[in-house]
Amino acid sequence: MAETIDETGSYLGSRRKPPRQPDDDAWRIEDHVCRVCFSRILSRAMGDGSRQYRCANCSVAGEGRTPAVICSCGLKMRGGKDLGVRCVRNDKPTPEAPAEIIARQVMA
Ligand SMILES: [Zn+2]
Ligand SMILES: [Zn+2]
Repeated sequence: MAETIDETGSYLGSRRKPPRQPDDDAWRIEDHVCRVCFSRILSRAMGDGSRQYRCANCSVAGEGRTPAVICSCGLKMRGGKDLGVRCVRNDKPTPEAPAEIIARQVMA
């Protein structure tokens, strides 16, 4: 009996650290939100100094050197004028707006 338990324990223990490629879990969570659905953005290094960005929720994706390629910081009016919207930390999360990062207009 004791042997069976030991075997199971070591089996589970070895399963916790499967061999992985270094880049497999290289996605990191950015402090920026999607310009379409306001979900958090993930990114990973492309290897040439730029990063691949993608929304954690919808299918928006892009490549560049800042999350602004797909985040709310990049919101512009037609004609290219900056709308002044930035992804900012939510100081006072509420049940209605519990998100950690929100898009807010910080300048006119
Ligand atoms: Zn999205
Ligand atoms: Zn942003």
